[in-house]
Amino acid sequence: MATDTIRAVRFHGAELGVAIDEVPYPAPGKGEVALRVSACGLCGSDLHFLEGMPVPGGVPLTLGHEPAGVVEAIGEGVTAWSPGDRVAITLGAGCGECPTCRTGHPNSCPYLVAPGLHIDGAWADVMRVPESTLVRIPDGVSDVAAAVATDCVATPYHGLKCRARLQPGEQIAVIGCGGLGTQTIAMARHLGAADIVAVDVSAAALEHARAAGATATVLVEPGRDAAAAIMGALGAGVTLAVECVGRPETVASGIGALVPGGRVLIIGVGMLPLSIGVPQALIALWEYSFIGSFGSHKEDLEEVLRLEAAGEIDIESCISHRLGLDEVPAGLEMLQSKRDDPQRIVMETGVV
Ligand SMILES: [Zn+2]
Ligand SMILES: [Zn+2]
Repeated sequence: MATDTIRAVRFHGAELGVAIDEVPYPAPGKGEVALRVSACGLCGSDLHFLEGMPVPGGVPLTLGHEPAGVVEAIGEGVTAWSPGDRVAITLGAGCGECPTCRTGHPNSCPYLVAPGLHIDGAWADVMRVPESTLVRIPDGVSDVAAAVATDCVATPYHGLKCRARLQPGEQIAVIGCGGLGTQTIAMARHLGAADIVAVDVSAAALEHARAAGATATVLVEPGRDAAAAIMGALGAGVTLAVECVGRPETVASGIGALVPGGRVLIIGVGMLPLSIGVPQALIALWEYSFIGSFGSHKEDLEEVLRLEAAGEIDIESCISHRLGLDEVPAGLEMLQSKRDDPQRIVMETGVV
């Protein structure tokens, strides 16, 4: 039941890091609900904030953008949801009215309000969210699986299916095989890619890539162009290269490995300007496409949860560590140092 205060893992800036604070109960306002958080992933993008990338909502802010929970209280005007409903939260609910939303990109809406980025997130006992972000969790899907689905699985699904329009039988390369890249490989496999070349600088990452469904692996030295090695592994270029790193040289490797008509899907987030190193004429003659992809739409999350409920994908198998709320700071340290080979770390209430 509602109490006056709750615990929250709040980020206080790169200098001070995170702390477990007592904060007021986030009572829902008009059009909002309060969720008792049951699970929330720890994500590589959270590390970007710890390493100095500005937090859109400013600090202090409760982080955690991969939430699942149970509706505990509803605000004025909320009619579609009731206390006790099990829900996951989409990050991609835009304003619905701006040109970006109207042309089918609510996840890139300039007015996007995403928990854990713009407003307080889910590393807390309770969180408050707009009702537009709620997605029902189907029976048979656990709260931890739903939490991981919100970003780690829905993001590759959105990129491959909605943005790159991956067709069965394609030859693809996935460059960067951390959490996002590994899930991209698993989803590409599910969507019917015939050949999946995994590229990374770490042999351990490539082992996970192979377990996820990669059909060939390429170990590269940091900063080296991987295009020739990708084509060597496959005996040909790829129709789709997925960049999951966020660096100019890995984008260039993806372009270099394409067959005419190919496309590069950029999911990785980096701040450096790109230098693609390809004559403009080739982009025209060979109809290359450069496709950005960020997060997912609400419908993508609904579909991913449906696939998990139907047993067509297996989200829980990627979870390597489950932690309680108090252990989130230690979990972030583990994610940063890669100690104990963290694949997917999830905060789960009920875990001490
Ligand atoms: Zn995330
Ligand atoms: Zn909008």
